[in-house]
Amino acid sequence: MKEYLSKNPYSGELIKTYKVDTQNAIHSKLEKALAFENSWANTKIEERCKLLSQLADLLLDRKEEYAELMTIEMGKPISQGISEIEKCAWVCDFYALNAEELLADEIIKTDAEESFISHDPLGCILAVMPWNYPFWQVIRFAAPTLTAGNTALLKHAQNVTGCSLAIEKLFVDAGYPEGCFQSLIVGHEEIEKLIAHDGIKAVTLTGSEKAGKSIARTAGENLKKTVLELGGNNACIIWEDTDLDMHIDTMVNARMQNTGQSCIAAKRFIVCEDIYDSFLEKFLEKVTSLTIGDPLKKDTFIGVMAREDLAEELQKQVTDSIALGAKVQLGNKRKGAYFSPTILTDVTTKMPVFIEETFGPVAAIIKVKNRNESIALAANSRFGLGSMLFTEDIDAAMDIISDIPDGAFFINDMVKSDPRLPFGGTKASGYGRELSREGILEFVNKKTVYIK
Ligand code: NAP
Repeated sequence: MKEYLSKNPYSGELIKTYKVDTQNAIHSKLEKALAFENSWANTKIEERCKLLSQLADLLLDRKEEYAELMTIEMGKPISQGISEIEKCAWVCDFYALNAEELLADEIIKTDAEESFISHDPLGCILAVMPWNYPFWQVIRFAAPTLTAGNTALLKHAQNVTGCSLAIEKLFVDAGYPEGCFQSLIVGHEEIEKLIAHDGIKAVTLTGSEKAGKSIARTAGENLKKTVLELGGNNACIIWEDTDLDMHIDTMVNARMQNTGQSCIAAKRFIVCEDIYDSFLEKFLEKVTSLTIGDPLKKDTFIGVMAREDLAEELQKQVTDSIALGAKVQLGNKRKGAYFSPTILTDVTTKMPVFIEETFGPVAAIIKVKNRNESIALAANSRFGLGSMLFTEDIDAAMDIISDIPDGAFFINDMVKSDPRLPFGGTKASGYGRELSREGILEFVNKKTVYIK
């Protein structure tokens, strides 16, 4: 029987082996979800919101335990893991408070006696999730989707199978009926078969562009809706009037949090030449001062990457960029799954660190002559998750909103997710939105009701 190995990327130790679900197990989980679908769809919204509040409380009670599980499975520094669990509780609280209003019938005046949109659940939604925020990615999907009356099956990344099973148990312990949320331990082929199954009504994926294309292809063949949250290559634009002392910590955090493994991280720093030297000096100083070490220690900021092959991949992108003329200002050292915080300058649009997503602690810095050039370069990407701009000139920043072809534009802050705001990308970063009103309405049937 096939097994998944869960390995601690910091110590190299084998944590556990997990048996992959048999065809029978997959079938029975799907049957359980389908058998329960109607009763969950007809459960009162107040009851669904109450369960979500209980889930939030349990997350907070167990935040240390879950943070440790993430640390040993994928190397996340433990303090950042605790913050991740707190954020999961926040999204649950947000929907527990607002779901009823967000899902209410939307009255539209027509020549009918009464006409409105009702928001009915679709049924069983398949979620395919990545390892980088093992709890957050799942909860930000599940909290609104289940509260809208759908059930969910989760296929998590192989290397965080322990987190996947812990999340399944979390739902049960919070009081959710069995069949509402279940974890599958399956490979890619089983996902293809599941997408084709009549019982699966829609699919959501957070992951790479490659996975997005594959899942969207299968879903398209089967006429199933998809939401795709894919990779990013966010620009961080720094205009010449930026208050560096005020914003430098945010800029470093925007690149280095989660050891650089974040889709919305600042990956390309596009800096106007008049401020370039002082930016580089301050950025280098801050990155050099980050605490690197054992991710289980609370003061560690940079741990290891989630797997050794990911660190190797990142090293190749850096090496290939150096061969094309990039200069190493800091870092570029690898040992196993560890890749040291790295700063590259003299980056051009021909280099992998500009063109591709770098999913680790590598900052690519590009000097530009002026504001116009900075915007053109920021928009020069296949990806479209978000851009950030630092400046004191808010009026000028507001004038370029429509020049940013991304899902998000943050002025004087890093791109970040917030339950109250929609989150998602354009271009190769995917489509659809999570969080806020947009997120809870992705997996509902917006039914037109017309009464004459
Ligand atoms: P990945 O390799 O695409 O894996 C993501 C998930 O998809 C895993 O569960 C993986 O399963 C599964 N998967 C991959 N290919 C598949 C296929 N052909 N059929 C079915 N399932 C498939 O990505 P990753 O390395 O885990 O995560 C990093 C990527 O995710 C980055 O590109 C990052 O930017 C992106 N991301 C995007 C967002 C966002 O909100 N936009 C957030 C976080 C991460 P296995 O583990 O079994 O391969």
